[in-house]
Amino acid sequence: ASMTRGITGEVPKVSWDDIGGLKQLKKELQQAVEWPIKHAESFKRLGISPIRGVLLHGPPGCSKTTLVKAAANAAQASFFSLSGAEVYCKYVGEGEALLRRTFQKARLAAPSIILLDEVDGIVPKRGHGGNSGGNSAVGERLLSTLLTEMDGLELATGIIVLATTNRLHAIDAALLRPGRFDLVLHVPPPDAEGRHEILCVQTRKMKLGEDVNLQEIAEHTDLFTGADLEGLCREAGMLAIRENVDSVCNRHFQTARISLSTSLTKSMVEHA
Ligand code: ATP
Repeated sequence: ASMTRGITGEVPKVSWDDIGGLKQLKKELQQAVEWPIKHAESFKRLGISPIRGVLLHGPPGCSKTTLVKAAANAAQASFFSLSGAEVYCKYVGEGEALLRRTFQKARLAAPSIILLDEVDGIVPKRGHGGNSGGNSAVGERLLSTLLTEMDGLELATGIIVLATTNRLHAIDAALLRPGRFDLVLHVPPPDAEGRHEILCVQTRKMKLGEDVNLQEIAEHTDLFTGADLEGLCREAGMLAIRENVDSVCNRHFQTARISLSTSLTKSMVEHA
């Protein structure tokens, strides 16, 4: 998620095919995000008001941010992104101004998608201390600015807000009221089949040795996230480069797997 900075408004280059697994989730996002933008006329004609906000939650590194970018790409929508920390850490009043400015830019560039990355940091739950004992008055003002902006998104403006969080319990209930984040989707850690599909995506451009069995690697990478698997493939590739061989072989993946630690723990997966 660290590559999402910037509020340039460009259409992201990531596509659905760059994301392994999560078929059902992609479908839901297509309906919630891609359709209202691509078929705005039909929505209008039939008097259907699209949802304004989607909240994606789940453990880190499992492609929440990438899903939002792929949705923006599929809808050919301008993409604006803000992170919780970015908004929260500003001087008094600056965070609100940044939020308002971003919505304003998104309106001008519509159809647009606004990503609020790690939204729990923008608007820590009231009475929760939120951002490591941060100033709750700041949080209050940011929350009310965000709510005002979201309430102001009208029927056919073609703006959809997508927010991500690793901590659903830390989200202020006001954000989950009707007309705000109406769709809440869980992005789970990948199972063996998902890991296999992620490995296929991540090795698409790699030259693999004949002894590489991605299915088998998938079965032996319990608790690896998509981001971990990306790291695994990169590390295996680095080992092959160091040996100066012309394909990435099974032994490289095996060595890489032993040297890497996973981001998830059993309890994270069980409670996900
Ligand atoms: P965070 O909570 O840390 O923001 P996130 O859930 O938003 O994490 P991303 O930033 O989208 O995760 O994913 C991190 C990286 O892991 C991406 O750059 C992507 O390359 C890789 N990745 C994660 N999941 C998948 C997947 N299902 N298929 C292919 N690559 C993936």
